[in-house]
Amino acid sequence: MSFPALKTRERLTEVRYEIRGELARRARELEAQGRRLIKLNIGNPGAFGFRAPEHLQRAIAGRIDETDPYTHQQGLPVAREALAAHYRRRGAPNASPERIFIGNGVSELIDLSLRALLNPGDEVLVPSPDYPLWTAATILNDGCPVHYHCRAENGFLPDPDEIESLVTPRTRAIVLINPNNPTGAVYPRELLERIVAIAARHQLLLMSDEIYDEVVYDGAKFEPLAPLAGDVPCLSFGGLSKVYRACGWRIGWALLSGDVRAIGDFHHAMDLLGALRLCANVPGQFAIEAALGGEATINALCAPGGRLYEARRAVVESVAVSRHLQMTTPAGALYGFPTVTGDAARSFDDHGFALELLETENVLVVPGASFNSRERTQFRVTLLPQPDELREVFARIERVLDRRAQA
Ligand code: PLP
Repeated sequence: MSFPALKTRERLTEVRYEIRGELARRARELEAQGRRLIKLNIGNPGAFGFRAPEHLQRAIAGRIDETDPYTHQQGLPVAREALAAHYRRRGAPNASPERIFIGNGVSELIDLSLRALLNPGDEVLVPSPDYPLWTAATILNDGCPVHYHCRAENGFLPDPDEIESLVTPRTRAIVLINPNNPTGAVYPRELLERIVAIAARHQLLLMSDEIYDEVVYDGAKFEPLAPLAGDVPCLSFGGLSKVYRACGWRIGWALLSGDVRAIGDFHHAMDLLGALRLCANVPGQFAIEAALGGEATINALCAPGGRLYEARRAVVESVAVSRHLQMTTPAGALYGFPTVTGDAARSFDDHGFALELLETENVLVVPGASFNSRERTQFRVTLLPQPDELREVFARIERVLDRRAQA
């Protein structure tokens, strides 16, 4: 048959998602050959033995008979009421159910909101490193990601002067990821206020990915952006995947805050795109009210003695005794993002290192370049395994880096 291979969307060549990419495929091949791997590539709590809180499971199970129909495109009214009340408790202005959009994970809402916003050639200010969906979704919605640099030397905090210097007449939005994946940085209030002022001066939409909002350690304080943004249009994203350990339920949400005149047709655009995909997974929506009704059970896991806290301690201590690694201690989120230094970093490439670690030591990490980082000496591990397993991982990493330092 003469049928030329199907053409695909050209801009896909600019897009990467290596968290589940080539290295993950190689890992599956090795597993099929019988190798036992330690896979630290995905922030997937359920894969490491974490469970969603029982009261959330019961909230779905108890109402399963009501979950057959589609819901409103923006989401189940009781869930949106609960979310609006949650954001009002946080001090967000105008947080009403009409301004809440529930989606199939934050992932869907990132894509949907950029699709609602962008015209070809519009620019979006995205952090580097970032959670790579932000860059990818900007590209696939015909936009141009313009990266602002969050440097390790600066605790991975953004520099507002740099952000403002990158604004052009085509800039439409500033993306923030706070607490940050992959770096673990948690942004102080004054920094957020400066970024809000930039958005106000240049009339930009703020897009604040707060999916790790309650995952903070050692007294770090998460500051929600919506109350600081006031009248400036702002999308605040959150969900059940991380704080409630229920990634598989595919439930995320976004609050659209800000002055109604400044938001204009954007609200309608979000609603229309939501309607085209009908609604989010309905059983999962029934857990939202239960989730927001009480103490976020993640707090105990992030406190001394809690599993995430101890996992983070294992990573911090392993890096502290390493001959080759440095790391800004993550103040939040579920990842460590170390940098390779000294002799081991000579002619280093993060992908080659990750492949060697996988092939020779059976450990899968994600190279820093996968997060659109400019550096080539970083990698990300998730804090979800047991602390002892993480210590073992870092012993194996040290062996690879020792070999490289001596080469
Ligand atoms: N945003 C960030 C910063 C993430 O780390 C992730 C998942 O790892 C997502 C969004 C996607 O989350 P969801 O499971 O809600 O689609």
